[in-house]
Amino acid sequence: MLLDIRTLVICVLVFAVVFSLGMYLAQRSQPKLQGLRWWSAAYALTANSFLLFALRGEISDLLSVMVGNTLLVIALGLFLEGAMQVRGQPGRMSWLSPALLVVLLPVLAYYVYVRPDFQARIISASIVYAIPLAATAWVLVRDIPRHLRYSHWFTAAAFGQLAAMCLLRAGISVYAPPQTLLESTPAQTVAFLSIFVMLILASFGCVWMVTESLSEQLERQARTDPLTGSMNRFALEDIVPIELARALRSGRPLSVLMFDLDRFKHLNDRMGHQYGDMALQTVADLARRLLRAGDHLARYGGEEFLAVLPDTGKTEAAEIAERLRQTLEAQAISIGEGAILTASYGLATFPDDGGDFHRLIGRADSALYRAKKEGRNCVVVA
Ligand code: GH3
Ligand code: MG
Ligand code: MG
Repeated sequence: MLLDIRTLVICVLVFAVVFSLGMYLAQRSQPKLQGLRWWSAAYALTANSFLLFALRGEISDLLSVMVGNTLLVIALGLFLEGAMQVRGQPGRMSWLSPALLVVLLPVLAYYVYVRPDFQARIISASIVYAIPLAATAWVLVRDIPRHLRYSHWFTAAAFGQLAAMCLLRAGISVYAPPQTLLESTPAQTVAFLSIFVMLILASFGCVWMVTESLSEQLERQARTDPLTGSMNRFALEDIVPIELARALRSGRPLSVLMFDLDRFKHLNDRMGHQYGDMALQTVADLARRLLRAGDHLARYGGEEFLAVLPDTGKTEAAEIAERLRQTLEAQAISIGEGAILTASYGLATFPDDGGDFHRLIGRADSALYRAKKEGRNCVVVA
């Protein structure tokens, strides 16, 4: 079945305009969605280049061939840049489409003006198109985290199939080239349908990837304490049952260390709240540095933190707490009137001090209360 190529080109053009506009408006309402801006521009340039292709024979070759191809290569570079933005590596591949144009434009000019040869043009342009398309597919799937894989694979498939199609078209054109750009042949029909499919799948995939990253961002924010960057209580309540179940299975202990900054109200009163906020950030940074990779730190209350230490028995946890106590003391953060900031620590360990989260926390809290009563700046083990 042969389809009319000019009609297909016009369909591509209309879809590209609609998607470009849709993405532009979506990006306007959600400025954080970086990739959308680039893809909106890519669709707009694609539309323009296909408009110039559709007018082949009715406008000059300078416009239809030279400018049309330039716009399309830039558009493919913008798709690649959008993918780089989605993957959080903006700008790293921005050299690719200028480099491709430096190669492609002299070749096209030669086969338009010096030795007119449509076959050579179609082969060279198709090979050049395949490069940014394949690069975009590769960027999207490379090292993709498991939970993001469906949306990224889907979008990569859109670009990958078109890259393969471009190479196939170049190959077929070696033996059976179309006579003109708009000639209806089976290969031409498949090639232009493939572009059509890519534009549709890529737009859907782009929106999918972008909303996924937005919801991930929101979830991360909902689980993070904005001041200190540590987990909040909400996130802690999720983590602890998982860690306890793991401890139960492995038969290994787990310790929880609760610590509360000493005389923090005094610090706020003497030095101001902003200084107090900075002190909280310093304490959280320090604790994160001292804890190990699998440990968790949460801000449990105003100036109260909770560290969950998997695979850690009482003695080892007490050593960690003591190290934390000494390091904070050594920071010598002033709380006014010559005094420095310290903290009191309460420690409880699973399974000795309790079999569930709330009992463990309760025991750590009582130990912390005793540390306060015993004069602060010390570690008490439940
Ligand atoms: P203690 O040694 O007994 O723990 O005395 P304290 O002054 O630390 O204890 P208290 O619970 O009376 O006061 C805690 C203070 O922590 C009160 C509150 O203003 C301050 N605080 C809580 N959250 C924040 C915060 O986000 N920023 C600042 N700057 N201060 C906070
Ligand atoms: Mg306190
Ligand atoms: Mg407190």
